[in-house]
Amino acid sequence: MHNLTFFIVNGLVIGGTFILAIALFPVWKLTRQLPAGTARSWWKVLTALIVFFICGYSGYAYVNWWNSSSLSDLLVPGVFLGGAVFVLMVCSLSLKTVVDLKRVHVLEQENISDPLMGIFNRRYLDRRLKEELLRSQRYHLPLAILLLDVDRFKAINDTCGHQTGDLVLKKLGQLMLAIVRDIDIVARYGGEEVLVIMPNTSVTDAAASAERLRRIIEETPIATSEEEDCHQAVRITVSIGVAGLRSGQETGPGSLLADADSVLYQAKKEGRNRVAVCS
Ligand code: GH3
Ligand code: MG
Ligand code: MG
Repeated sequence: MHNLTFFIVNGLVIGGTFILAIALFPVWKLTRQLPAGTARSWWKVLTALIVFFICGYSGYAYVNWWNSSSLSDLLVPGVFLGGAVFVLMVCSLSLKTVVDLKRVHVLEQENISDPLMGIFNRRYLDRRLKEELLRSQRYHLPLAILLLDVDRFKAINDTCGHQTGDLVLKKLGQLMLAIVRDIDIVARYGGEEVLVIMPNTSVTDAAASAERLRRIIEETPIATSEEEDCHQAVRITVSIGVAGLRSGQETGPGSLLADADSVLYQAKKEGRNRVAVCS
């Protein structure tokens, strides 16, 4: 006949075993959230360890089942149960932390990107331009910006509709990201105006990049539908104003933007589909 202590001891061990088994669920979900790599491998090792402990707890419960228990036998099962609760808490909190971090990352991305064009937004652009200017001035490095405006974009809206206009802007964003270097910062400056910040780049090099950008955009037909087999396309041209910070020159973001804007205006006046450089 088993006494009460026997039931408490086995209850603690079996309860601990169940709690450990439950802990496998957040670990499994967490492992699926992580990209392949070291952290994921170590969570798999931890899964194996939890399974090992489940076997250990079950073995202990089995052995204990055939022995009578005294009050002093409560200590080990009590620690077992505490350990299982600890493992469950750590695993659940880790999962919640990963989910929260992912949410923060998404919010951060939303905070700095333009939802239509898929490039950075004006807020991020203002911050980065200020930072890049300070860095370039401090380390005496060149810095250039390109201000790009789509030519006669109103006509696209008027003839093809605003939705097609939106799609053209989206595709333009994708195209520009594919053309510029990884270190360049592409951001929406206004309606259909895009600014590219080119760190550590001279005005001459930036002008060459602008010309390449202008040519590729001119030569690339832009599909007017997201459908794979869409054969309708529009061609757009852009005018680009290039301005730069010369080594050692003290200037603010406002005057650099004003330089780019004034040469962009000049490019428009001279007939559009061209690059104008602020000398
Ligand atoms: P140009 O620059 O060559 O002088 O002529 P434009 O017709 O492009 O004139 P402007 O740059 O002044 O006008 C930009 C137009 O872009 C006005 C506006 O209707 C359109 N636009 C601005 N933002 C958006 C947008 O998010 N979606 C769409 N579809 N159109 C936009
Ligand atoms: Mg325009
Ligand atoms: Mg414009």
